[in-house]
Amino acid sequence: MCGIIGYKGNKNAAEFILSGLSMLEYRGYDSWGVAIKKDNKISTFKKIGKISDRTKKDEIATGTIGMGHTRWATHGGITHENAHPHTNENGNIAIVHNGIIENYQKLKKSLKEKGHEFLSETDTEVIAHLIEEYEKDFDFFEAFKKALNDIEGSFAIVCMHKDKNELICARRDSPMVVGVNHKSKEYFVASDVPAFLEHTRDVIFMDDNEIVVINDKPTFYNLLNGKKVEKKEQHITWDIAQAKKGDFEHFMLKEIKEQKETLKNAISQKDEIIENIANKINSGFGVFFVASGTSLNAAKSAAYMFSKHAKKHVNVVDASEFEYYKDFLTPKTLMITISQSGETADVLSAVKTAKKIGVEIISIVNVMGSSLERQSNAALLMNAGPEICVVATKTYTSQLAILHLIVYAVSGRLKRGKEWLKYAADHVDELTNQSEITKLENLALRLKDCHHMYIIGRGLSYPTALEAALKIKEVSYIHAEAFAGGSLKHGPLALIEKGTPLIVFAPKDETFNQTITNTIEAKARGAFIIGVSPEDNEAFDFHINVPDLNGTSPIANIIPIQVFAYYLAVLKGLDPDMPRNLAKSVTVK
Ligand code: GLU
Repeated sequence: MCGIIGYKGNKNAAEFILSGLSMLEYRGYDSWGVAIKKDNKISTFKKIGKISDRTKKDEIATGTIGMGHTRWATHGGITHENAHPHTNENGNIAIVHNGIIENYQKLKKSLKEKGHEFLSETDTEVIAHLIEEYEKDFDFFEAFKKALNDIEGSFAIVCMHKDKNELICARRDSPMVVGVNHKSKEYFVASDVPAFLEHTRDVIFMDDNEIVVINDKPTFYNLLNGKKVEKKEQHITWDIAQAKKGDFEHFMLKEIKEQKETLKNAISQKDEIIENIANKINSGFGVFFVASGTSLNAAKSAAYMFSKHAKKHVNVVDASEFEYYKDFLTPKTLMITISQSGETADVLSAVKTAKKIGVEIISIVNVMGSSLERQSNAALLMNAGPEICVVATKTYTSQLAILHLIVYAVSGRLKRGKEWLKYAADHVDELTNQSEITKLENLALRLKDCHHMYIIGRGLSYPTALEAALKIKEVSYIHAEAFAGGSLKHGPLALIEKGTPLIVFAPKDETFNQTITNTIEAKARGAFIIGVSPEDNEAFDFHINVPDLNGTSPIANIIPIQVFAYYLAVLKGLDPDMPRNLAKSVTVK
């Protein structure tokens, strides 16, 4: 899930690469490295830790062509040797890679037999040696192509040769986008647009099995047959301020606070597009929502919304489990995938499986030009701007809003649904005003040292409880577990002891009374009750006041818990933007 960047221009490449890497750090942050080519020599620099911890002593070579990598290790521990870039023995060829080479053991064995010596435990290193091996008989382009065609697995690769004044890059099942600034004659290649957004908004998205050679300008080829490919440039609307922290200490809080705007952007979808999707849902035989992590929680929320407002049954499947459901698919099935990055490997693999059966794919994505957007029959953009913090906040509520629009369109009440959402967007700001933030910070101070927290909700609030638990776990490393309110008594109540925090989602809907009953049952066993509700209740030890939003309550209810989770992390001295072991777009399976 690493972040990669390459630069070819006429200025000092290191500057662009380092600033690009810091914009990509959300993709991986256990080590980083840079390679610069100058005068037929490649110099590499690698370091364990975050790019943001770089010191003045970390000197990077100068040159006008180079590449960088921020790693999220899959093969081999977090060591200096395993950090990218990787080279062949004599350092002629340097590689940065995002993905997994599935047949690397076999390739490594045969390369070793041919005398190649390996320095790292990574799968990536085999690529540099394999190119070197083919270079004995072919020119560099051909050697690169042949090497990559021997590889099984996923890759986005940037490669340099000491004698070539170019970057040669390729992708298969890992993201890669080229940034072009024809005026200044500067070209970029990266895992994601924010890496070069400061320098250009003109991009060319690469497709699977494509090579780009960046010399005087980028030229694209088909990786399988080597033929030239014509590509279209696109203009990105995101602006760099959205990708910078501004006055905020962390992206997480900045992005939480952006939700008033991002919700408005999410609901500004064209009616005919939403209605078209609604028609497909109404006429499809079986609807599958497929997603991972936070997006999966949004899909679970959608299932309740479909039942409540549209009287329609939909299936929700964890993308990583989708393979085991494929026997239920027919060409009349409709699949709706949800992913912030549009690069989630589990989701893309589910799409591949479904497409083979002829299933129509609709996607809800945030990143324009992402693999998911391009592989779908139709896509809705969340329009949330770049989300840099590893944990999703604003895109979750954007997803909920778009799903809500679809649900209301399915039941022929799109206009009504939009009104509710506008009302919700107008009221979320009050959840993050200074007095609410201080209150939640104080709650976090009180609970930051606890080891377990439980969260309950019924109906629409159950997925909200799941998402709240995920937020708390991801950033604070506190064990947080969600239950449907009614299921507490079927086992989990045994976990409650004096002072155990229990967060209760209690919107004023048909679940309210029973949720309060479940709360009282836990309180009787000593739980410390935090009630998230438009109405205080004597069962609550701590009340988080939220607006009464009826069917759109999940949008508002999650926001205070996002803030609470943020402060749990900050007060524990953790970095909420980059939680341990995680990376934002999970581009490996
Ligand atoms: N497999 C490579 C490594 O472990 C790249 C990992 C990734 O892209 O996440 O270094």
